[in-house]
Amino acid sequence: MTFEEYYSAFKAYSDIYSDEYRKRIENLEPLLMKFMKEKGKVLDLGCGAGGFSFLLEDLGFTVVGVDNSEYMLSLARGFAKEKGSKVEFIKADARELPFEDNTFDYVLFIDNLVHFEPLDLGKAFREMARVLKPGGKLILQFTDLRALLPVLMNGQVIGAEYWISKVLPDKDEKTVLIEFQSEEKSFRVRFNVWGKTAVELLAKLYFQKVGEEKINEHTYLQVYLPK
Ligand code: SAM
Repeated sequence: MTFEEYYSAFKAYSDIYSDEYRKRIENLEPLLMKFMKEKGKVLDLGCGAGGFSFLLEDLGFTVVGVDNSEYMLSLARGFAKEKGSKVEFIKADARELPFEDNTFDYVLFIDNLVHFEPLDLGKAFREMARVLKPGGKLILQFTDLRALLPVLMNGQVIGAEYWISKVLPDKDEKTVLIEFQSEEKSFRVRFNVWGKTAVELLAKLYFQKVGEEKINEHTYLQVYLPK
């Protein structure tokens, strides 16, 4: 099972018009606006299907979306065409960004941590700090999977069709294999497990935290300035 198949199974990530995706945008928009008062140039890093890129474009920001998945970019570009959007969607890796130093006023990094092993997240944070202008902001949204893990249960409903049928952490809980089941099929995806403390420690190498909002019991939006 690739991540692409996982995302295509969940409309919350693949269909910007679905109720699930809209709900994510509705929840985050007021918080984004709280920390993004000045208009400017935004890098939506790990942009996926592009819903947050389009939101910010509609609000008057200039947006570049970056993702390393051709599949996710094809979704984003399809939606851009439908909407007449000017957002530029570029294929690149967060660990090595194709931008000059001091290019962006904001980097958005939403819901992406599960893809990154510690070394890779360190590289990505370094790149985010590099491409941000002095005084630019990293807006980081993530779920504390380390805290969530013990309460992830078999039978828990995820999205409209699936429920969790197995939660299989590795020995030291650095990653977890989760099995999703629907009436028709089941699949397994391996996620990197990030806790809030570890994220903050790593971010601290390149950034200073200047804001935090708790979105729900295990999900946070944090704001960082490059050091
Ligand atoms: N931020 C989007 C959102 O909230 O809808 C997408 C979130 S999706 C859960 C995570 C995205 O990160 C996927 O589209 C995936 O392809 C992308 N991604 C994973 N590793 C990446 C990397 N090394 N560089 C760039 N994008 C990456």
